[in-house]
Amino acid sequence: EELCRELPKIELHAHLNGSVRDSTLLELAKVLGDQGAIDFSEVEGLIKRRGRSLKECFRLFDIYHKITTDHATVTRITQEVVEDFAAENVVYLELRTTPKQNKAKEMTKHSYMKAVIDGLTAVDSVEVAFLPSTVNARNLTNFLPNEVTYNQTHRKKIFVRLLLSIDRRETTAAAMETVNLALEMKNMGVIGIDLSGNPEVGEWQTFLPALQYAKLKGLQVTLHCGEVRNNREIHSMLDFYPQRIGHACYLEEEHWEKLKVSKIPVEICLTSNLRTERITSFKEHHFADLYNAKHPVSLCTDDVGLFSTTLSNEYYLAATTFGFNKEQVYHLSRNAIEFVFADDEVKRTLAEIYDAAERRFI
Ligand code: 5GP
Repeated sequence: EELCRELPKIELHAHLNGSVRDSTLLELAKVLGDQGAIDFSEVEGLIKRRGRSLKECFRLFDIYHKITTDHATVTRITQEVVEDFAAENVVYLELRTTPKQNKAKEMTKHSYMKAVIDGLTAVDSVEVAFLPSTVNARNLTNFLPNEVTYNQTHRKKIFVRLLLSIDRRETTAAAMETVNLALEMKNMGVIGIDLSGNPEVGEWQTFLPALQYAKLKGLQVTLHCGEVRNNREIHSMLDFYPQRIGHACYLEEEHWEKLKVSKIPVEICLTSNLRTERITSFKEHHFADLYNAKHPVSLCTDDVGLFSTTLSNEYYLAATTFGFNKEQVYHLSRNAIEFVFADDEVKRTLAEIYDAAERRFI
């Protein structure tokens, strides 16, 4: 367990609002409860409950959004989420979030994202490198393997990149707006687009034009794929050939074959899949088959807050469930370098970080 915490890790699938600390949610909910805006005891019960279906998760997200969606809070949760990941030795974090519009809060998708960026710059406990190397190369060359001496104190560093999520409830125009925002923010650490939100809602054709446009413009794309049975959609998603997919729970034999030939990396979220009842035990998770087939996979958390997990815990779970030794765990983590959406300079630096940690694991 301790070793999994110590291991340098790469997180590729983390939703901002799903990663908020319970303590922060409860604190914010209490304030809203006192103002009479929400029923605090009901929200408290929901936050503290553990097992939940996929449907309940999305109901909960709507409540989370009520609690967290104002500029100052978005900034605060971004800061805390990055600090929490860095504290467990995540050295590269791709954080995804859905830009939100909210007239009552005078919030636009743009101002929402500015609040996120403010959160990245507000991080104090670690050094955050979120700009592309072309924008601030100094940041990267100064990025020394893991623990570095900085201002006489030990400061860790973490790379952060942002993915903008399209919510499946959105229209084509709203999805397009998110893609345009991502393009506008390319110099501010935004590198790609994610398609997420309730998989029972929305049609693939609605998002396709925006996703195609994103791809055409050089943004990287990752899709939540196969969270529910929907053969046609899964087929179309694999045909679209995204740079990565998340989950891949309900694929049919023909899809597995297509996926394996395509070599599209899969973001694996063990605890999330168990807690939302898409698998009944870790042992039967499709991770095992993909891993044995040497298909590119990366362990991820999905929502550390919602599912009470950490990335270290996901590695520990994989190691204990599938009987991995230290060296296998190290390589599983290190292999994710190849699937990060950031540029080669970042990848080189990450390789150095893993080199420096190698002797503790091999
Ligand atoms: P946000 O984008 O608001 O920062 O993070 C929460 C959002 O991420 C949710 O409203 C939902 O759209 C998306 N999300 C989080 N976890 C999951 C998941 O397991 N599956 C899907 N499809 N979407 C998710």
